Amino acid sequence: MGQLTVGSNPTPSAETARTLPGVDRVQLDELMGVALDEAREADEHGDVPIGAVVARDTGEVVARRHNQREQDADPTAHAEILALRDAARAAGSWRLDGFALVVTLEPCPMCAGAVVAARLGLVAFGAADPKAGALGSLYNLAADPRLNHEATVVDGVRADECAPLLTAFFADRR
Ligand code: ZN
Repeated sequence: MGQLTVGSNPTPSAETARTLPGVDRVQLDELMGVALDEAREADEHGDVPIGAVVARDTGEVVARRHNQREQDADPTAHAEILALRDAARAAGSWRLDGFALVVTLEPCPMCAGAVVAARLGLVAFGAADPKAGALGSLYNLAADPRLNHEATVVDGVRADECAPLLTAFFADRR
């Protein structure tokens, strides 16, 4: 379990200060369970098993999706993008500052960019992605004061369950 990483900006904007939902650790673990179930569904159609959930700060799930890049032949059909689209539709707004994204793998630059674009308050992920991760590994787009939004990031949530899903998927393909 990693530490809470709030934006590195020493004088966070008023916007940042009011965009931290009160999702607690127990809720994050439960939400990651839903994301893990989603990830397993991706595997069934040959997609890399990654699952994502968007929840309100009460813990209520408003969207749950999995990676469909292969199935849809769509380079943007990552679990996070699909879940954010569904959540925005449910909320009737592109702005999701009262919501949390919970995803099994550290988001890539595109998805981390979508986190900023949606003004999400909180992102939690399971396994870190040293090759493409943009919430701490290669970049940290959620804590860059040059961008117009910062989000709280929680890493390592149920990572011991998220990482083996991916390892097994790629081992099967070899
Ligand atoms: Zn992505």
